[in-house]
Amino acid sequence: MTAVAPLTPAPTGLSWSPEPPTTHAGIAVDPGRYVLRIPGHSWEVTPAECADPGTGVWIAARGRAITAGFTGDEALVCPGCGLDVT
Ligand SMILES: [Zn+2]
Repeated sequence: MTAVAPLTPAPTGLSWSPEPPTTHAGIAVDPGRYVLRIPGHSWEVTPAECADPGTGVWIAARGRAITAGFTGDEALVCPGCGLDVT
């Protein structure tokens, strides 16, 4: 199986999980969407287990959550499982 390239560049200092999730809260995940890996942080659930996607959270370089001061080096991810929802 060939992995699909991530749709969103990972913010500086972070990376995407190499394993493509298949479902998120019961909905098929678009190819190229992965779970963000943040050093020292664990997501509460996997995308398949995630029940409520809710409102995404913007993660900037080195795993900092931000609401302002965007530079283009951010990704919007699910607050429960870290799936790319940019
Ligand atoms: Zn989720």
